[in-house]
Amino acid sequence: MRYGYNHQRIRKALLPFAYGRRCHFCGRLMLPGERLDLDHTVDQSGYRGMTHSSCNRRDGARRQRIRRSRAW
Ligand SMILES: [Zn+2]
Repeated sequence: MRYGYNHQRIRKALLPFAYGRRCHFCGRLMLPGERLDLDHTVDQSGYRGMTHSSCNRRDGARRQRIRRSRAW
């Protein structure tokens, strides 16, 4: 697992509040039965809120590609 215990705990605590709210990636409602993830800020210092797992993963993959393409 990439995320630690704390992340899982926060995700679980926020999960009931996420249902009926909009995913900030795709703008669609998050519904019970859908897989939801807790989204990190880009610098990993905090959380932006709950999103669909699929949306979150797509965004993460894109960010990694961007980071790798920059030669800092
Ligand atoms: Zn979404």
